Amino acid sequence: MKDSTQKTAAVGYKLKLAIQKSGRLHDDSIRLLKECGIDISNGVNKLKAEASNFPVEVYFLRDDDIPQYVEDGVADIGFVGENVVYEKKKKVTVAEKLGFGKCRLSLAVRKGDDYTGVQSLSGRKIATSYPVILGDFLKEKGIDAEIHEISGSVEIAPGIGLADAICDLVSSGSTLFMNGLKETESILQSQAVLIKNKDLSEEKEQLIARLLFRIQSVKKAKNNKYILLNAPNAKLKEIIALLPGMKSPTVLPLAEEGWSSVHSVLNENEFWDIIEQLKAAGAQGILVVPIEKMIV
Ligand code: ATP
Ligand code: ZN
Repeated sequence: MKDSTQKTAAVGYKLKLAIQKSGRLHDDSIRLLKECGIDISNGVNKLKAEASNFPVEVYFLRDDDIPQYVEDGVADIGFVGENVVYEKKKKVTVAEKLGFGKCRLSLAVRKGDDYTGVQSLSGRKIATSYPVILGDFLKEKGIDAEIHEISGSVEIAPGIGLADAICDLVSSGSTLFMNGLKETESILQSQAVLIKNKDLSEEKEQLIARLLFRIQSVKKAKNNKYILLNAPNAKLKEIIALLPGMKSPTVLPLAEEGWSSVHSVLNENEFWDIIEQLKAAGAQGILVVPIEKMIV
């Protein structure tokens, strides 16, 4: 009864979601929505697009502008990097980590430079597009350095004599390497997050809860694998003890007498450890299958 009342209450309401128009977060944002059963494939070249099967309207914006739009309520929610959220210091709530757009904000100096710790940056000039986060970091460490704000191509600053060091986003490190720089300190780990406005109606909060439920199911599925294996009955107890499963593993008899098929779910983090132990315990014919959605 409660459920159906809640659904009726949300009818007619539509969430406004801001995502990056183009760039590193765009494709993964669209993909996540799709995995959540939200299809906006017919409008990605416009300023905004409407989903056909979920009450959401998607706005395509520059990532730097998303926190401001969400604070102002122009958008109710947004997908944006944590680096941008912390740099802009807008009044928004971080509701969920989205598992893509992973990178780190790091300090780097020229390859040949003497660097013995952050203190080496005292009195030096550091180029960055993240003056707020860098400023906070230096203050916390008690380092007095000059921050030189530039909006792009930060990695070339030391090479052209603009700065002694840089503070920039890194993922593989190849851009630093190609510019003759070495990463010395990572000051923030970042990934895309879902941010929301601080003052939303009950109806919109309900829609966000539905969206978050879907996102969490997709994320869980990605972090888990479905595993099937054959086990001699004499070893079943030992093998079952190694498997967590969602409740407990499913055990089915095989056509061959004395053998069973065991099905379970394994988390990515413990996956290889457990597989090795299962093999050692006598498991055979181990199959590992991706999971599309995981509702717990
Ligand atoms: P826009 O035109 O929307 O302002 P942009 O050029 O500022 O785009 P992108 O380079 O597309 O931004 O990066 C968007 C986000 O992707 C970053 O803010 C960060 O959260 C994430 N990201 C992940 N890996 C990296 C990386 N190696 N370098 C830069 N950003 C990365
Ligand atoms: Zn940007």
